[in-house]
Amino acid sequence: MTTQLQTRLRTEIKVSSLDDYASVVGTEGVGELRALASRLRGRSVQMVNSTALGGGVAEMLNRIVPLIQELEIPIRWDVITGGEDFFAITKAFHNALHGGSYDMGDDSFATFLANSEQNRQRMQFDSEFVIIHDPQPAALINARNHGRGHWVWRCHIDLSQPNQKVWQFLEPFVSRYDAAIFSSPEFSRGLRIPQYLFYPSIDPLSEKNRELEPEFIGEVLERFEIDPRRPILTQISRFDRLKDPIGVLRAYKIVKRYFDCQLVLAGGSAADDPEGEQVLAEVQEVAGKDPDVHLLNLPPWSALEINALQRASTIIIQKSLREGFGLTVTEGLWKKKPVVASAVGGIPTQVIHKYTGMLAHSVEGTAYQIRYLLSNPNIAQRLAEWGHEHVRENFLITSNVRRYLTLFLHFVEASH
Ligand code: UDP
Repeated sequence: MTTQLQTRLRTEIKVSSLDDYASVVGTEGVGELRALASRLRGRSVQMVNSTALGGGVAEMLNRIVPLIQELEIPIRWDVITGGEDFFAITKAFHNALHGGSYDMGDDSFATFLANSEQNRQRMQFDSEFVIIHDPQPAALINARNHGRGHWVWRCHIDLSQPNQKVWQFLEPFVSRYDAAIFSSPEFSRGLRIPQYLFYPSIDPLSEKNRELEPEFIGEVLERFEIDPRRPILTQISRFDRLKDPIGVLRAYKIVKRYFDCQLVLAGGSAADDPEGEQVLAEVQEVAGKDPDVHLLNLPPWSALEINALQRASTIIIQKSLREGFGLTVTEGLWKKKPVVASAVGGIPTQVIHKYTGMLAHSVEGTAYQIRYLLSNPNIAQRLAEWGHEHVRENFLITSNVRRYLTLFLHFVEASH
């Protein structure tokens, strides 16, 4: 029965088309996208990032690319390749740009550039608008054929306090783009190029976010041996130190003294993140043998399961130490879940304290807010409803696509 239900759910999935979004943003919202796109006929777009699977950027591109395609703007998505050494360096860049130290040695910059050069030679860049996501492929600006195309660096990470050594290495590349896009005003740098603010987005019709049948949610809980009758606290995140899974465990242990609750820490790895396994092992050790702690190492094709876990949760946690934007927060808010999250990176843009969720600054603060919401379910529900509306107004894929189209039009008009 269970397997049948799952099979039925999986086979029922159809890829949403643009018109389906009218159910969320109205026919005017969809009409606006078509009108903007009609002024871009004959122009092409290329997106470049460092992984097709895992993490927020891949999550967004997986949906933005087909929608732009459906708007009859040819678009290609390329993923750079690299060996373990390259991704160890780019992960170290990532941590350092989020404010950490950098101890990979000076020759790491040469390795990074050699890898970039290999990708440059392998890849084609003939689109009119080239969007390079994040630091990993940033040096591909070397591929720019002067006078042709508009190149934009889309930075998804919090650059407010970058490690200077890494930023000084990257900045000369970034400065050669036509523009940079950041997810929050605080992340922008003193660059000489124009900088734009784009909020990241979720797709309300994707497997990750669409409504689910209660039977399927029940089946997922059963599969992972989670009790639906007791409160479920959930953090969905790659096993990454900056997501602070150990801090989440500590907060849970405090809450557990007062509430008979369960903790779900679910995450997989991303192809460009080599640290996941080690972090998971550390988390397992701290979790010990508590049967109410569910550490789920999920494969990349788990969107429906993650959706179900989020929908089954009493509270969604995102206790990141650093965060670009935190799409898991957006996903939780969209599902009308009370969210307790750290006041870092782009999270406060989404979680407006005491209005769309609760912000915290420590393990104890996280535990306190969780306890408060568990004790006050009516308040928790009200926050969740407001959170849902906040996402509808600001963080849906349709807004994101609209911003890209508007930026492209701006380039076209500026170059006449
Ligand atoms: N995610 C996933 N599987 C996992 C962990 C995370 O599909 O095992 C998804 C999650 O639902 C969200 C994205 O990956 O859509 C993570 O984005 P976020 O901005 O929260 O963090 P990032 O991983 O980009 O730092």
